[in-house]
Amino acid sequence: MTHSLFLLPGDGIGTEIMAEVEKVIAWTNAEQLTDFVTDRGLAGGSAYDKHQVAITDEDTQKALAADAVMFGAVGGPKWDHVAYEQRPEAALLRLRKEMAVFANLRPAICYPALADASSLKRELVEGLDILIVRELTGGVYFGEPKTITDLGNGQKRGIDTQVYETYEIDRIARVAFDLARTRNNRVHSADKKNVMKSGVLWDEVVKGVAQDYPDVKLEHILADNAAMQLVRNPKQFDVLVTDNLFGDVLSDEAAQLTGSIGMLPSASLGDKKANGLPSALYEPIHGSAPDIAGQGLANPIASILSFAMCLRYSFGMKDEAARLEKAVDQVLADGFRTGDIMQPGMTKVGTTAMTDAILKALDKSA
Ligand code: NAD
Repeated sequence: MTHSLFLLPGDGIGTEIMAEVEKVIAWTNAEQLTDFVTDRGLAGGSAYDKHQVAITDEDTQKALAADAVMFGAVGGPKWDHVAYEQRPEAALLRLRKEMAVFANLRPAICYPALADASSLKRELVEGLDILIVRELTGGVYFGEPKTITDLGNGQKRGIDTQVYETYEIDRIARVAFDLARTRNNRVHSADKKNVMKSGVLWDEVVKGVAQDYPDVKLEHILADNAAMQLVRNPKQFDVLVTDNLFGDVLSDEAAQLTGSIGMLPSASLGDKKANGLPSALYEPIHGSAPDIAGQGLANPIASILSFAMCLRYSFGMKDEAARLEKAVDQVLADGFRTGDIMQPGMTKVGTTAMTDAILKALDKSA
């Protein structure tokens, strides 16, 4: 079966880590697990240098037409002067909007071999496996009015508007409940219903959706308490669903439980398209790391795990995704480390050698 992947490496280490993802795609094809056809485009500063925009209409159309998009990272000091509309990050915002990817999935998994790299005690994080489901296209980041008004008395007023409608909460809740069914059948829903009307509606709609999932246990949690519980006892969570703003904060907090930013993948999913596949964009959560770009030092694991998410969530290739994740687990257990996750007594490797070790582990797992 042929599937199309559109690759947008971006800037800085984005290009280096995407080259590693391509090796894993080639491995998947060689194993005849499926037939991935790839095309490449420009996003971020690299697109600006060539076309004076963060992403062209043509590449946006290719992203919309592809079965899935693999994104690297964008940005860097070279483009700090670029106008707001053309800044590198605008590429990602345009893609998220046009692809209508409303569900951001951020797993926080702590590999046993890296448990000591966490800022929490080993016993709190070892074996941690949380999935944060963040609403991505609504809420306070997009609500109108969104203004700064001069009050004429030496004061100004800044306004952002938190707004959610039933359908937006309903669809993200269903994503969370569906995912819980593939995991441990538990969902925490975080909001601030004690002080926010949008939170009251959020809770009401999530509880309504829960009626359709009697096998999944729903627990409500206030978002501030969720922030506290994530560092107090993170393993109590399975799936945590929340809005755009709280999700932004809580997913970064959960990310830090696991050690390094170079390890963390993400998926952004939308509704199913005519071909039955979801609108989908996969990317590591880290940026373009200008401080190490071009030196072969970047950890490719976040991107490789993003490809594993692509196999699982776009193409239903659960076994293959698990095999790739196990291969990553294996190389970490074997002591291979890039600089960002280096620990005493381990074997320090660069970007390419890390991928090669993962491919070797994949071969052995056949
Ligand atoms: P960053 O994630 O690029 O880097 C933070 C630190 O983590 C750096 O020390 C970097 O070397 C390290 N790091 C990140 N990824 C790594 C990896 N795979 N392997 C090893 N080390 C890694 O964040 P930043 O420095 O705040 O931002 C740099 C640029 O990236 C900025 O232009 C920012 O706007 C952009 N950015 C882009 C995205 C994105 O494309 N989604 C996300 C965040 C930041």
